[in-house]
Amino acid sequence: MKRTLITGAAGFLGSHLCDRFIAEGHKVLGMDNLITGDMSNIEHLMGHEHFEFYHHDVTKYVHVPGELDYILHFASPASPIDYLKIPIQTLKVGAMGTHNLLGLALAKGARIIVASTSEVYGDPMVHPQTEEYWGNVNPVGPRGVYDEAKRYQEAITMAYHTFHGLETRIVRIFNTYGPRMRLNDGRVLPAFIGQALRGEDLTVFGDGSQTRSFCYVDDLVEGIHRLLMSDCPDPVNVGNPDEITIRQFADEIIQLTGTDQKVIYKPLPKDDPTQRQPNISRAKEILGWTPKVDRSEGLKITYDYFKSLPEDVLYRVEHKNFQDYNQRRKQE
Ligand code: UDP
Repeated sequence: MKRTLITGAAGFLGSHLCDRFIAEGHKVLGMDNLITGDMSNIEHLMGHEHFEFYHHDVTKYVHVPGELDYILHFASPASPIDYLKIPIQTLKVGAMGTHNLLGLALAKGARIIVASTSEVYGDPMVHPQTEEYWGNVNPVGPRGVYDEAKRYQEAITMAYHTFHGLETRIVRIFNTYGPRMRLNDGRVLPAFIGQALRGEDLTVFGDGSQTRSFCYVDDLVEGIHRLLMSDCPDPVNVGNPDEITIRQFADEIIQLTGTDQKVIYKPLPKDDPTQRQPNISRAKEILGWTPKVDRSEGLKITYDYFKSLPEDVLYRVEHKNFQDYNQRRKQE
């Protein structure tokens, strides 16, 4: 039986990956420090004979008992609001966390895939974004802590591949959505759906002409699985090229939820990318992968999930964990 370590296991993507790899017959070791992750995402796996949970921060030395065949490094805050709240942890998990896991992969003879991001392209001057594009990133802007950590992550991962011959994979993930996103993490889809459910107006930042391309989580997980099982060490974009403006997206959410709320405009955050769409030629060619789930279908499933949550989740004050965490760090 293959043994697979998944970091960020209690997060949105990590928890779906745990499900997928257990379904593939792996023994899954899930690891999370629970700053942004939520145990409710993996509650259904606790006690499963092919799942073990480790409450651990991967920026500290990582030890797991026994052999490992695969490592999926998916631990990281992943929303612009999170980076602002825990900027240093965001840098550390992409940099030191990745270094620790590459060392672990080397020691165990495991293959590792790291979760990179379309943010390595910054506010892109090339559209749609191909893997050859080097990006347009502001290192000292509010997103710099995430973008530069992920760029460093790619660099050190490639160095372990070329210097040590480690089997490495790099997936560049574009905006992804689905059940188990955190309702109040500030990302646009949970923000809009949460606002609709609470009967609030939908907050569009800027004039809403900026674009994003949203991929349903099952499609992403399929792409990640295929990439891990491929022999491609180069970065591969995985995302849905179906591009939409944020203003149009707000209209789709209004239609989906049937809310009679309106759109209100708020200032555009600094360095908010004006456009984003993956060129997925490489994924098509190397992995035979294309996304299958239309936005209308994926949004319906996601909305049903958010509607099914207990009402207090809708009004939960977020970032309590961050405050506790930051407090502790300052006292240390
Ligand atoms: N956005 C918005 N209203 C919100 C939250 C986000 O208009 O309440 C916009 C945000 O400015 C960005 C886009 O939606 O242009 C996607 O934001 P998100 O934080 O989901 O991800 P990003 O792709 O920017 O990392």
